[in-house]
Amino acid sequence: MTQVVVIGGGISGLASAYFLSESIDPAEITVLEAEESLGGTIKGLKFGDRVVETGPDSFITRNPSALDLAAALNLSDRLVSPATSSAFIYARSRLHPIPAGTVFGAPSDFKKFSGNSLISRTGQLRAALEPFLPRARIEGDTTVGSFARKRWGKEVSDLLIEPLVGGIHAGTTYQLSLALCAPQYLKSAQDFRSVSVGLKAQTANYTPSGHPAFYSFSGGLSDLVEGLAELLRNRAVQILTNCESVEISQLPDGYRVTTKDRALDVEGVICATPSYVSAKLLQPVSAGAAELLRSIDYASPIMTLLSYDDDAFPEPLHGSGVLVPRPNRTLTTAVTFATNKWPQWKSDGETILRVSAGRIGDNRAWEFSDEALVADLEAEIKKITGVKSRSARHNVSRWRNRIPQFKPFHNQLTQRIREKLPAGIELAGAPFLGVGIPACISSGRTAAERLSKALAKPR
Ligand SMILES: Cc1cc2nc3c(=O)[nH]c(=O)nc-3n(C[C@H](O)[C@H](O)[C@H](O)COP(=O)(O)OP(=O)(O)OC[C@H]3O[C@@H](n4cnc5c(N)ncnc54)[C@H](O)[C@@H]3O)c2cc1C
Repeated sequence: MTQVVVIGGGISGLASAYFLSESIDPAEITVLEAEESLGGTIKGLKFGDRVVETGPDSFITRNPSALDLAAALNLSDRLVSPATSSAFIYARSRLHPIPAGTVFGAPSDFKKFSGNSLISRTGQLRAALEPFLPRARIEGDTTVGSFARKRWGKEVSDLLIEPLVGGIHAGTTYQLSLALCAPQYLKSAQDFRSVSVGLKAQTANYTPSGHPAFYSFSGGLSDLVEGLAELLRNRAVQILTNCESVEISQLPDGYRVTTKDRALDVEGVICATPSYVSAKLLQPVSAGAAELLRSIDYASPIMTLLSYDDDAFPEPLHGSGVLVPRPNRTLTTAVTFATNKWPQWKSDGETILRVSAGRIGDNRAWEFSDEALVADLEAEIKKITGVKSRSARHNVSRWRNRIPQFKPFHNQLTQRIREKLPAGIELAGAPFLGVGIPACISSGRTAAERLSKALAKPR
Protein backbone atom coordinates (compact mmCIF):
# COMPACT_ATOMS: atom_id res chain seq x y z
CA MET A 1 0.00 0.00 0.00
CA THR A 2 1.35 3.48 -0.90
CA GLN A 3 2.26 5.45 2.21
CA VAL A 4 2.00 9.21 2.12
CA VAL A 5 2.33 11.97 4.73
CA VAL A 6 0.75 15.41 4.57
CA ILE A 7 2.45 17.92 6.87
CA GLY A 8 0.11 20.69 8.09
CA GLY A 9 -3.54 20.40 9.03
CA GLY A 10 -4.70 23.78 7.74
CA ILE A 11 -7.19 23.93 4.88
CA SER A 12 -4.40 23.27 2.33
CA GLY A 13 -3.17 20.14 4.10
CA LEU A 14 -6.66 18.76 4.69
CA ALA A 15 -7.59 19.43 1.07
CA SER A 16 -4.37 17.73 -0.07
CA ALA A 17 -5.26 14.63 2.00
CA TYR A 18 -8.80 14.68 0.58
CA PHE A 19 -7.61 14.77 -3.05
CA LEU A 20 -4.96 12.13 -2.31
CA SER A 21 -7.67 9.88 -0.87
CA GLU A 22 -9.60 10.36 -4.13
CA SER A 23 -6.68 9.61 -6.40
CA ILE A 24 -4.32 7.06 -4.81
CA ASP A 25 -5.98 3.76 -4.10
CA PRO A 26 -5.05 1.96 -1.97
CA ALA A 27 -3.08 4.45 0.14
CA GLU A 28 -2.15 4.90 3.76
CA ILE A 29 -2.38 8.64 4.34
CA THR A 30 -1.28 10.41 7.54
CA VAL A 31 -1.82 14.10 8.30
CA LEU A 32 0.56 15.65 10.83
CA GLU A 33 -0.53 18.86 12.55
CA ALA A 34 1.67 20.71 15.05
CA GLU A 35 -1.18 22.37 16.96
CA GLU A 36 -3.85 20.81 19.13
CA SER A 37 -6.60 21.63 16.64
CA LEU A 38 -6.97 21.47 12.85
CA GLY A 39 -7.73 24.37 10.54
CA GLY A 40 -4.60 26.52 10.92
CA THR A 41 -5.64 30.10 10.24
CA ILE A 42 -9.33 29.14 10.15
CA LYS A 43 -10.30 29.66 13.76
CA GLY A 44 -13.57 30.50 15.51
CA LEU A 45 -13.57 31.83 19.07
CA LYS A 46 -16.32 31.84 21.69
CA PHE A 47 -16.96 35.56 22.10
CA GLY A 48 -19.86 36.18 24.48
CA ASP A 49 -22.41 33.54 23.56
CA ARG A 50 -21.42 33.33 19.87
CA VAL A 51 -18.57 31.74 17.96
CA VAL A 52 -16.91 34.51 15.94
CA GLU A 53 -14.14 34.06 13.35
CA THR A 54 -10.73 35.44 14.31
CA GLY A 55 -9.10 34.60 10.96
CA PRO A 56 -10.91 34.38 7.61
CA ASP A 57 -14.68 34.92 7.72
CA SER A 58 -15.68 33.88 4.17
CA PHE A 59 -14.44 32.52 0.86
CA ILE A 60 -14.83 33.80 -2.66
CA THR A 61 -16.92 31.79 -5.13
CA ARG A 62 -15.29 32.96 -8.37
CA ASN A 63 -12.74 30.16 -7.90
CA PRO A 64 -15.25 27.28 -7.35
CA SER A 65 -12.84 24.99 -5.41
CA ALA A 66 -14.33 25.69 -1.97
CA LEU A 67 -17.92 25.47 -3.26
CA ASP A 68 -17.17 22.17 -5.00
CA LEU A 69 -15.55 20.80 -1.86
CA ALA A 70 -18.54 21.91 0.23
CA ALA A 71 -20.80 19.99 -2.17
CA ALA A 72 -18.61 16.87 -1.96
CA LEU A 73 -18.83 17.05 1.85
CA ASN A 74 -22.64 17.51 1.77
CA LEU A 75 -22.29 20.96 3.31
CA SER A 76 -24.09 22.92 0.58
CA ASP A 77 -27.21 23.34 2.71
CA ARG A 78 -25.12 25.05 5.40
CA LEU A 79 -23.76 27.75 3.07
CA VAL A 80 -24.55 31.29 4.24
CA SER A 81 -23.72 34.50 2.43
CA PRO A 82 -22.98 37.91 4.00
CA ALA A 83 -26.15 39.89 4.73
CA THR A 84 -24.59 42.99 3.24
CA SER A 85 -21.65 43.62 0.96
CA SER A 86 -21.60 47.41 0.64
CA ALA A 87 -18.39 48.77 2.14
CA PHE A 88 -16.72 52.12 2.80
CA ILE A 89 -13.30 53.65 2.54
CA TYR A 90 -12.05 56.01 5.25
CA ALA A 91 -10.29 59.07 3.83
CA ARG A 92 -10.00 62.74 4.78
CA SER A 93 -11.62 61.95 8.18
CA ARG A 94 -14.87 60.56 6.78
CA LEU A 95 -16.44 57.46 5.27
CA HIS A 96 -16.94 57.20 1.51
CA PRO A 97 -18.91 54.41 -0.20
CA ILE A 98 -16.69 52.31 -2.48
CA PRO A 99 -17.24 54.07 -5.82
CA ALA A 100 -19.70 52.47 -8.24
CA GLY A 101 -18.47 51.44 -11.70
CA THR A 102 -15.33 49.71 -10.41
CA VAL A 103 -14.01 46.15 -10.72
CA PHE A 104 -11.67 45.12 -7.93
CA GLY A 105 -11.14 48.85 -7.29
CA ALA A 106 -10.33 49.79 -10.88
CA PRO A 107 -12.70 52.15 -12.70
CA SER A 108 -14.51 50.25 -15.45
CA ASP A 109 -17.60 52.39 -16.03
CA PHE A 110 -16.72 56.08 -15.89
CA LYS A 111 -20.33 57.22 -15.98
CA LYS A 112 -21.09 55.36 -12.75
CA PHE A 113 -17.65 56.21 -11.31
CA SER A 114 -17.99 59.97 -11.79
CA GLY A 115 -19.29 61.96 -8.88
CA ASN A 116 -18.03 59.57 -6.18
CA SER A 117 -16.92 61.30 -2.97
CA LEU A 118 -13.66 59.38 -2.44
CA ILE A 119 -11.63 60.47 -5.46
CA SER A 120 -11.17 64.21 -6.08
CA ARG A 121 -12.39 65.83 -9.29
CA THR A 122 -8.79 65.97 -10.57
CA GLY A 123 -8.26 62.31 -9.60
CA GLN A 124 -11.43 61.32 -11.46
CA LEU A 125 -10.38 63.25 -14.57
CA ARG A 126 -6.98 61.55 -14.48
CA ALA A 127 -8.62 58.11 -14.17
CA ALA A 128 -10.97 58.89 -17.08
CA LEU A 129 -7.93 59.34 -19.36
CA GLU A 130 -7.25 55.59 -19.13
CA PRO A 131 -9.16 54.56 -22.29
CA PHE A 132 -7.08 57.07 -24.26
CA LEU A 133 -3.69 55.80 -23.06
CA PRO A 134 -1.58 53.58 -25.30
CA ARG A 135 -1.91 49.83 -24.69
CA ALA A 136 -0.06 48.71 -21.54
CA ARG A 137 3.24 47.00 -22.25
CA ILE A 138 4.00 44.43 -19.54
CA GLU A 139 7.16 42.38 -19.73
CA GLY A 140 5.81 39.28 -17.99
CA ASP A 141 4.83 40.87 -14.68
CA THR A 142 4.98 44.09 -12.66
CA THR A 143 3.51 45.35 -9.37
CA VAL A 144 -0.22 45.99 -9.05
CA GLY A 145 0.54 49.47 -7.69
CA SER A 146 2.83 50.68 -10.46
CA PHE A 147 0.42 49.29 -13.09
CA ALA A 148 -2.60 50.94 -11.41
CA ARG A 149 -0.80 54.26 -10.99
CA LYS A 150 0.16 54.34 -14.68
CA ARG A 151 -3.35 53.43 -15.85
CA TRP A 152 -5.64 55.38 -13.46
CA GLY A 153 -3.35 57.78 -11.56
CA LYS A 154 -1.95 57.97 -8.03
CA GLU A 155 -5.19 58.80 -6.23
CA VAL A 156 -7.17 55.81 -7.54
CA SER A 157 -4.15 53.60 -6.95
CA ASP A 158 -3.52 54.74 -3.35
CA LEU A 159 -7.06 55.28 -2.05
CA LEU A 160 -8.97 52.56 -3.86
CA ILE A 161 -6.81 49.78 -5.28
CA GLU A 162 -4.24 49.74 -2.45
CA PRO A 163 -6.78 49.08 0.34
CA LEU A 164 -8.76 46.57 -1.73
CA VAL A 165 -5.99 44.50 -3.32
CA GLY A 166 -3.22 45.28 -0.83
CA GLY A 167 -5.66 44.78 2.05
CA ILE A 168 -6.46 41.17 1.14
CA HIS A 169 -2.74 40.40 1.46
CA ALA A 170 -2.02 42.72 4.43
CA GLY A 171 0.54 43.98 1.94
CA THR A 172 1.15 46.87 -0.39
CA THR A 173 0.20 46.87 -4.05
CA TYR A 174 3.56 48.52 -4.76
CA GLN A 175 5.21 45.17 -4.01
CA LEU A 176 2.53 42.66 -5.09
CA SER A 177 2.57 40.72 -8.37
CA LEU A 178 0.05 41.89 -10.96
CA ALA A 179 -0.13 38.40 -12.51
CA LEU A 180 -1.00 36.70 -9.22
CA CYS A 181 -2.83 39.38 -7.19
CA ALA A 182 -4.82 41.18 -9.90
CA PRO A 183 -4.99 38.74 -12.84
CA GLN A 184 -8.20 40.45 -14.02
CA TYR A 185 -6.22 43.64 -14.76
CA LEU A 186 -3.50 41.70 -16.57
CA LYS A 187 -6.02 39.78 -18.69
CA SER A 188 -7.75 43.03 -19.66
CA ALA A 189 -4.41 44.58 -20.54
CA GLN A 190 -3.59 41.59 -22.75
CA ASP A 191 -6.99 41.46 -24.46
CA PHE A 192 -7.88 45.16 -24.78
CA ARG A 193 -6.12 48.45 -25.42
CA SER A 194 -8.05 50.00 -22.51
CA VAL A 195 -7.87 48.02 -19.27
CA SER A 196 -11.07 49.74 -18.04
CA VAL A 197 -12.96 48.63 -21.16
CA GLY A 198 -11.62 45.09 -20.70
CA LEU A 199 -12.70 45.01 -17.06
CA LYS A 200 -16.20 46.12 -17.98
CA ALA A 201 -16.41 43.28 -20.50
CA GLN A 202 -15.27 40.82 -17.79
CA THR A 203 -18.00 41.84 -15.32
CA ALA A 204 -20.62 40.21 -17.54
CA ASN A 205 -19.48 36.78 -16.29
CA TYR A 206 -17.97 37.75 -12.94
CA THR A 207 -19.74 35.10 -10.86
CA PRO A 208 -20.90 32.78 -13.62
CA SER A 209 -22.31 30.21 -11.22
CA GLY A 210 -25.06 32.60 -10.08
CA HIS A 211 -23.83 32.26 -6.48
CA PRO A 212 -23.20 35.27 -4.27
CA ALA A 213 -19.59 36.49 -4.39
CA PHE A 214 -18.79 35.17 -0.88
CA TYR A 215 -19.92 32.37 1.40
CA SER A 216 -19.31 30.93 4.82
CA PHE A 217 -21.22 28.17 6.67
CA SER A 218 -23.89 28.37 9.34
CA GLY A 219 -21.38 27.08 11.91
CA GLY A 220 -18.55 29.20 10.48
CA LEU A 221 -15.64 28.14 8.29
CA SER A 222 -14.80 25.45 10.86
CA ASP A 223 -17.71 23.50 9.31
CA LEU A 224 -15.46 22.97 6.29
CA VAL A 225 -12.51 21.91 8.45
CA GLU A 226 -14.61 19.55 10.57
CA GLY A 227 -16.43 18.14 7.53
CA LEU A 228 -13.12 17.40 5.83
CA ALA A 229 -11.62 15.84 8.96
CA GLU A 230 -14.68 13.61 9.44
CA LEU A 231 -14.65 12.42 5.84
CA LEU A 232 -10.89 11.76 5.99
CA ARG A 233 -11.26 9.72 9.19
CA ASN A 234 -14.09 7.74 7.53
CA ARG A 235 -11.64 6.98 4.74
CA ALA A 236 -9.14 5.69 7.33
CA VAL A 237 -6.82 8.67 6.95
CA GLN A 238 -4.82 9.00 10.16
CA ILE A 239 -4.89 12.56 11.54
CA LEU A 240 -2.35 13.29 14.28
CA THR A 241 -2.53 16.61 16.13
CA ASN A 242 0.07 17.97 18.58
CA CYS A 243 2.50 16.32 16.18
CA GLU A 244 5.07 18.76 14.82
CA SER A 245 7.28 17.53 11.97
CA VAL A 246 10.90 18.48 12.45
CA GLU A 247 12.69 17.01 9.42
CA ILE A 248 12.31 15.16 6.14
CA SER A 249 15.23 12.93 5.18
CA GLN A 250 15.93 10.79 2.15
CA LEU A 251 15.71 6.97 2.29
CA PRO A 252 16.76 4.66 -0.57
CA ASP A 253 13.12 4.16 -1.59
CA GLY A 254 11.32 7.16 -0.11
CA TYR A 255 11.48 9.59 2.78
CA ARG A 256 11.54 9.60 6.57
CA VAL A 257 9.36 12.26 8.21
CA THR A 258 10.52 12.81 11.76
CA THR A 259 8.36 14.36 14.46
CA LYS A 260 9.30 14.99 18.09
CA ASP A 261 8.23 11.47 19.09
CA ARG A 262 8.08 9.29 15.98
CA ALA A 263 9.43 8.61 12.51
CA LEU A 264 7.28 7.72 9.51
CA ASP A 265 8.85 6.05 6.46
CA VAL A 266 6.79 6.90 3.39
CA GLU A 267 6.93 7.08 -0.39
CA GLY A 268 5.47 10.55 -0.75
CA VAL A 269 5.17 13.80 1.22
CA ILE A 270 3.09 16.93 0.75
CA CYS A 271 4.29 19.93 2.78
CA ALA A 272 1.30 22.17 3.40
CA THR A 273 3.03 24.42 5.92
CA PRO A 274 4.04 28.10 5.62
CA SER A 275 6.99 28.36 3.20
CA TYR A 276 9.55 29.20 5.93
CA VAL A 277 8.53 25.97 7.74
CA SER A 278 8.64 23.93 4.50
CA ALA A 279 12.12 25.38 3.87
CA LYS A 280 13.36 24.08 7.23
CA LEU A 281 11.79 20.66 6.71
CA LEU A 282 13.09 20.29 3.15
CA GLN A 283 16.65 21.53 3.79
CA PRO A 284 18.12 17.98 4.01
CA VAL A 285 16.46 16.79 0.78
CA SER A 286 16.61 19.93 -1.36
CA ALA A 287 18.75 22.84 -0.19
CA GLY A 288 17.90 24.62 -3.48
CA ALA A 289 14.14 24.50 -2.94
CA ALA A 290 14.65 25.49 0.70
CA GLU A 291 16.63 28.59 -0.27
CA LEU A 292 13.95 29.74 -2.72
CA LEU A 293 11.15 29.04 -0.21
CA ARG A 294 12.94 31.25 2.34
CA SER A 295 12.76 34.19 -0.08
CA ILE A 296 8.96 34.45 0.35
CA ASP A 297 8.09 37.24 2.83
CA TYR A 298 5.09 37.15 5.16
CA ALA A 299 2.81 39.78 6.69
CA SER A 300 1.64 39.57 10.30
CA PRO A 301 -1.89 40.89 10.83
CA ILE A 302 -3.63 41.20 14.20
CA MET A 303 -7.39 40.67 14.45
CA THR A 304 -9.15 42.35 17.37
CA LEU A 305 -12.79 41.67 18.23
CA LEU A 306 -14.57 44.53 19.97
CA SER A 307 -18.06 44.33 21.46
CA TYR A 308 -20.15 47.52 21.84
CA ASP A 309 -23.69 48.32 22.90
CA ASP A 310 -25.78 49.18 19.84
CA ASP A 311 -26.73 52.40 21.64
CA ALA A 312 -23.12 53.56 21.74
CA PHE A 313 -23.28 54.45 18.03
CA PRO A 314 -24.81 57.83 17.09
CA GLU A 315 -26.68 56.03 14.31
CA PRO A 316 -26.84 52.37 13.24
CA LEU A 317 -23.81 51.24 11.23
CA HIS A 318 -24.54 50.55 7.58
CA GLY A 319 -22.80 48.06 5.32
CA SER A 320 -20.23 45.39 5.97
CA GLY A 321 -17.30 47.55 7.02
CA VAL A 322 -14.56 50.02 6.24
CA LEU A 323 -11.16 49.83 4.55
CA VAL A 324 -8.55 52.23 5.90
CA PRO A 325 -5.88 53.19 3.34
CA ARG A 326 -2.28 53.89 4.37
CA PRO A 327 -2.34 57.72 4.08
CA ASN A 328 -4.49 57.78 7.27
CA ARG A 329 -1.47 56.43 9.22
CA THR A 330 -3.81 54.58 11.60
CA LEU A 331 -3.01 51.24 13.22
CA THR A 332 -6.41 50.09 11.91
CA THR A 333 -6.24 48.72 8.38
CA ALA A 334 -9.88 47.56 8.12
CA VAL A 335 -13.01 47.23 10.25
CA THR A 336 -15.68 44.61 9.59
CA PHE A 337 -19.10 45.45 11.00
CA ALA A 338 -19.28 41.80 11.91
CA THR A 339 -22.84 41.66 13.23
CA ASN A 340 -24.12 43.52 10.14
CA LYS A 341 -22.30 41.15 7.81
CA TRP A 342 -23.17 37.98 9.78
CA PRO A 343 -26.50 38.55 11.61
CA GLN A 344 -26.23 35.06 13.16
CA TRP A 345 -23.47 36.51 15.40
CA LYS A 346 -25.81 39.17 16.79
CA SER A 347 -27.09 39.02 20.34
CA ASP A 348 -29.69 41.49 21.53
CA GLY A 349 -28.30 45.02 21.61
CA GLU A 350 -24.69 44.05 20.81
CA THR A 351 -22.53 45.20 17.89
CA ILE A 352 -19.35 43.23 17.22
CA LEU A 353 -16.52 44.77 15.17
CA ARG A 354 -13.55 42.87 13.74
CA VAL A 355 -10.66 45.32 13.58
CA SER A 356 -7.55 44.43 11.53
CA ALA A 357 -4.14 45.95 12.22
CA GLY A 358 -0.65 45.27 10.95
CA ARG A 359 0.44 45.10 7.34
CA ILE A 360 3.68 44.81 5.45
CA GLY A 361 5.94 47.73 6.32
CA ASP A 362 3.85 48.63 9.38
CA ASN A 363 4.30 46.39 12.40
CA ARG A 364 3.65 49.14 14.97
CA ALA A 365 0.69 47.19 16.39
CA TRP A 366 3.03 44.34 17.37
CA GLU A 367 4.92 46.65 19.76
CA PHE A 368 1.81 47.16 21.92
CA SER A 369 0.51 44.96 24.72
CA ASP A 370 -3.03 43.70 24.06
CA GLU A 371 -4.50 46.28 26.46
CA ALA A 372 -2.57 49.20 24.92
CA LEU A 373 -3.46 48.05 21.40
CA VAL A 374 -7.16 47.81 22.25
CA ALA A 375 -7.10 51.32 23.76
CA ASP A 376 -5.50 52.79 20.61
CA LEU A 377 -7.78 50.87 18.25
CA GLU A 378 -10.83 52.01 20.24
CA ALA A 379 -9.71 55.64 19.86
CA GLU A 380 -9.40 55.15 16.09
CA ILE A 381 -12.76 53.38 15.88
CA LYS A 382 -14.28 56.36 17.69
CA LYS A 383 -13.02 58.66 14.91
CA ILE A 384 -14.09 56.29 12.14
CA THR A 385 -17.59 55.38 13.37
CA GLY A 386 -18.40 58.07 15.95
CA VAL A 387 -18.95 55.44 18.67
CA LYS A 388 -19.28 57.17 22.04
CA SER A 389 -18.05 54.62 24.56
CA ARG A 390 -15.25 52.10 24.97
CA SER A 391 -15.87 48.45 24.08
CA ALA A 392 -17.48 46.19 26.66
CA ARG A 393 -15.38 43.16 25.72
CA HIS A 394 -12.44 42.39 23.45
CA ASN A 395 -10.20 39.65 22.13
CA VAL A 396 -6.86 40.04 20.36
CA SER A 397 -5.67 37.31 17.94
CA ARG A 398 -2.12 37.72 16.67
CA TRP A 399 -1.31 36.05 13.36
CA ARG A 400 2.48 36.22 13.10
CA ASN A 401 3.89 35.48 9.61
CA ARG A 402 0.57 34.20 8.24
CA ILE A 403 0.02 35.96 4.91
CA PRO A 404 2.57 35.30 2.15
CA GLN A 405 3.56 38.19 -0.08
CA PHE A 406 3.68 37.63 -3.81
CA LYS A 407 6.34 39.74 -5.48
CA PRO A 408 6.31 40.11 -9.28
CA PHE A 409 7.22 36.85 -11.06
CA HIS A 410 6.01 34.78 -8.10
CA ASN A 411 4.48 32.23 -10.50
CA GLN A 412 7.93 31.73 -12.01
CA LEU A 413 9.43 31.40 -8.51
CA THR A 414 6.90 28.65 -7.72
CA GLN A 415 7.89 26.89 -10.93
CA ARG A 416 11.59 27.07 -10.01
CA ILE A 417 10.86 25.70 -6.53
CA ARG A 418 8.90 22.78 -8.01
CA GLU A 419 11.75 21.99 -10.40
CA LYS A 420 14.12 21.65 -7.43
CA LEU A 421 11.90 19.22 -5.51
CA PRO A 422 12.91 15.57 -5.60
CA ALA A 423 10.31 13.11 -6.97
CA GLY A 424 7.79 12.18 -4.28
CA ILE A 425 7.70 15.61 -2.57
CA GLU A 426 5.09 18.25 -3.31
CA LEU A 427 4.09 21.60 -1.81
CA ALA A 428 0.65 23.02 -1.11
CA GLY A 429 -0.63 26.09 0.70
CA ALA A 430 -1.21 29.81 0.61
CA PRO A 431 2.32 30.60 -0.70
CA PHE A 432 1.66 29.09 -4.11
CA LEU A 433 -1.63 29.86 -5.92
CA GLY A 434 -2.92 32.65 -3.65
CA VAL A 435 -3.95 33.31 -0.05
CA GLY A 436 -7.72 32.79 -0.46
CA ILE A 437 -9.27 29.57 0.85
CA PRO A 438 -10.32 28.37 -2.65
CA ALA A 439 -6.76 28.96 -3.94
CA CYS A 440 -5.41 26.94 -0.98
CA ILE A 441 -7.82 24.10 -1.84
CA SER A 442 -6.71 24.27 -5.50
CA SER A 443 -3.08 24.07 -4.36
CA GLY A 444 -3.95 20.92 -2.39
CA ARG A 445 -5.58 19.38 -5.45
CA THR A 446 -2.57 20.22 -7.66
CA ALA A 447 -0.12 18.78 -5.12
CA ALA A 448 -2.18 15.58 -4.71
CA GLU A 449 -2.48 15.10 -8.47
CA ARG A 450 1.24 15.63 -9.03
CA LEU A 451 2.17 13.27 -6.20
CA SER A 452 -0.26 10.56 -7.36
CA LYS A 453 1.24 10.76 -10.84
CA ALA A 454 4.81 10.63 -9.51
CA LEU A 455 4.06 7.64 -7.29
CA ALA A 456 2.31 5.79 -10.10
CA LYS A 457 5.54 5.91 -12.17
CA PRO A 458 8.02 3.10 -11.53
CA ARG A 459 11.00 4.68 -9.74
C1 LIG B 1 -6.52 37.48 9.76
C2 LIG B 1 -6.71 36.73 8.46
C3 LIG B 1 -7.89 36.90 7.73
C4 LIG B 1 -8.07 36.20 6.53
N1 LIG B 1 -9.25 36.35 5.85
C5 LIG B 1 -9.50 35.57 4.78
C6 LIG B 1 -10.80 35.53 4.21
O1 LIG B 1 -11.73 36.19 4.68
N2 LIG B 1 -11.01 34.70 3.15
C7 LIG B 1 -10.01 33.90 2.64
O2 LIG B 1 -10.26 33.16 1.67
N3 LIG B 1 -8.77 33.89 3.19
C8 LIG B 1 -8.50 34.69 4.24
N4 LIG B 1 -7.27 34.65 4.84
C9 LIG B 1 -6.23 33.77 4.27
C10 LIG B 1 -6.48 32.30 4.59
O3 LIG B 1 -7.04 32.15 5.88
C11 LIG B 1 -5.16 31.52 4.58
O4 LIG B 1 -4.40 31.83 3.43
C12 LIG B 1 -5.41 30.01 4.62
O5 LIG B 1 -6.27 29.65 5.67
C13 LIG B 1 -4.06 29.31 4.74
O6 LIG B 1 -4.26 27.94 4.83
P1 LIG B 1 -3.01 26.95 4.83
O7 LIG B 1 -3.52 25.61 5.13
O8 LIG B 1 -2.24 27.14 3.58
O9 LIG B 1 -2.06 27.50 6.00
P2 LIG B 1 -2.32 27.56 7.56
O10 LIG B 1 -3.72 27.88 7.85
O11 LIG B 1 -1.23 28.45 8.09
O12 LIG B 1 -2.07 26.06 8.02
C14 LIG B 1 -0.76 25.53 8.14
C15 LIG B 1 -0.83 24.47 9.22
O13 LIG B 1 0.46 23.85 9.33
C16 LIG B 1 0.71 23.62 10.69
N5 LIG B 1 2.16 23.48 10.87
C17 LIG B 1 3.12 24.44 10.83
N6 LIG B 1 4.33 23.90 11.03
C18 LIG B 1 4.14 22.56 11.18
C19 LIG B 1 5.01 21.46 11.40
N7 LIG B 1 6.34 21.61 11.51
N8 LIG B 1 4.48 20.21 11.52
C20 LIG B 1 3.15 20.00 11.43
N9 LIG B 1 2.27 21.03 11.23
C21 LIG B 1 2.77 22.28 11.10
C22 LIG B 1 0.15 24.86 11.37
O14 LIG B 1 -0.07 24.63 12.76
C23 LIG B 1 -1.15 25.06 10.59
O15 LIG B 1 -2.22 24.36 11.15
C24 LIG B 1 -7.05 35.34 6.05
C25 LIG B 1 -5.85 35.18 6.78
C26 LIG B 1 -5.67 35.86 7.96
C27 LIG B 1 -4.40 35.67 8.75
